[in-house]
Amino acid sequence: MFGVWAPDDEVAKLTYFGLYALQHRGQEAAGIATSDGRSLLVFKDVGLVAQVFDESSLASLRGHLAIGHCRYSTTGRSSWENAQPTLGGTSGGTVALAHNGNLINSAELREVLAERHGGSLRASTGEVGRGNTTDTALVTGLLTSDEDQTLEAAAMEVLPMLRGAFSLVFCDEQTVYAARDPQGVRPLVLGRLERGWVVASETAALDIVGASFVREVEPGELLAIDEQGLRSRRFAEPDRKGCVFEYVYLARPDTTLNGRSVHESRVEMGRQLAAEHPVEADMVMPTPESGTPAAIGYAEASGIPYGAGLVKNAYVGRTFIAPSQTIRQLGIRLKLNPLRDVIRGKRLVVIDDSIVRGNTQRALVRMLREAGAAEVHVRISSPPVRWPCFYGIDFATRAELVANGLNTDDIRASIGADSLGYISESGMVTATEQRQDQLCTACFSGRYPIGTPEDHRATDVLELEFPVRRGSDPTDVGTLDVQRMQETDSEGEPPAGVRDVEGVRVGSALGASDALTRP
Ligand code: SF4
Repeated sequence: MFGVWAPDDEVAKLTYFGLYALQHRGQEAAGIATSDGRSLLVFKDVGLVAQVFDESSLASLRGHLAIGHCRYSTTGRSSWENAQPTLGGTSGGTVALAHNGNLINSAELREVLAERHGGSLRASTGEVGRGNTTDTALVTGLLTSDEDQTLEAAAMEVLPMLRGAFSLVFCDEQTVYAARDPQGVRPLVLGRLERGWVVASETAALDIVGASFVREVEPGELLAIDEQGLRSRRFAEPDRKGCVFEYVYLARPDTTLNGRSVHESRVEMGRQLAAEHPVEADMVMPTPESGTPAAIGYAEASGIPYGAGLVKNAYVGRTFIAPSQTIRQLGIRLKLNPLRDVIRGKRLVVIDDSIVRGNTQRALVRMLREAGAAEVHVRISSPPVRWPCFYGIDFATRAELVANGLNTDDIRASIGADSLGYISESGMVTATEQRQDQLCTACFSGRYPIGTPEDHRATDVLELEFPVRRGSDPTDVGTLDVQRMQETDSEGEPPAGVRDVEGVRVGSALGASDALTRP
């Protein structure tokens, strides 16, 4: 997300380049809204930023302020209607809103909005009334549901009602607003232009448009920027729980998160990984690009030479973000090609940032063996992903996560590696230089700091049930108590709920409850 208030600049072009720098955060759709003080115009479409905009569309977006978004869908279909910014309005003005994150109380907000319109969402103005299904459109609808309220007053009333992860950038004809949830799960920063202000998801986007970093938008803060300058209001007390996965994978390495360089965090994760999971080998190599900083750290700490064993096609999107399984499986062959002369006969340590479904690593290990590798030792700079994310990352349902129900050796066998080592949770957290109690680690630990959605059906997480060892604290979701499943039942058939993952038997068991059924 990107927003700019700068009367002397070409705000649409600044926003275009800001979004271009943030393309890694979402590749499904892109949009920009601009205002010249009298009318607000939105241009959006499905596709990458460079596919959606050209010179003529940017030239039509005139004004002194702009906001923009590149979409990565977590709720709502991947479609033109659900592209952002979303639009809403009252007789007093128009509102455009962009959202990074995911709300967990959409069902409740839907009811509140319907009540305000006599029981029907169809009576809502703006995109909700036209069938936009995203949590973002609901927020836009709530912000514009009272004709008599200013947008700033509406924001101070609506923002405390939202639960989950939300970094928001929105505007009306005169003012750019930025707001961040009390936990500050997703990043959002404020920058200064010579004659204007910028807000962006990451500091790297400020660098690219020539803005200087001022500070983060604080968790629980609403900023307003217009001709009267910058105003800050607090709508909730901060309770910081930044997403640790931003440090591991999501943010650009040249971004700084809460004072810590993402690149440095990743190098340190690699050093930590070398200390926790040493191995005798001839070369340390990354899965490019996301494994590169950790591979540098691993090589430095282990003394094993660093080398590049794979060439990446830089123009293919990151496979983790591609929405369908078919595209993901094609992805590895489209984007990585081994350097056979470098790999042949060598014992390799291959560093990657995470394993989600395991498809990428499985294809990668096979590719390296075919290229002549003597041994392939996989090291991962985050712990096993065992839990879904409800705060803006579309990992998978629990049933799709390869680490769900498998121990490390099962996963090693599943991906075909000679050995496999994951960094510990404490090693990962130490590398971020953040306090453990100020981070979300839920996808690794199962401890959800802001709760989980009341409407689980929307996320399909109850598809399988898993054994959970509960603590005495009712808010503690417990830890997964992994059991090796019995091979067959008395009839010689696999028991119900047991599936095979590349030759390894995984199970859901067996009368136990899922963590998400907790109070
Ligand atoms: S569950 Fe994982 S990806 Fe989601 S916010 Fe928490 S740490 Fe980040």
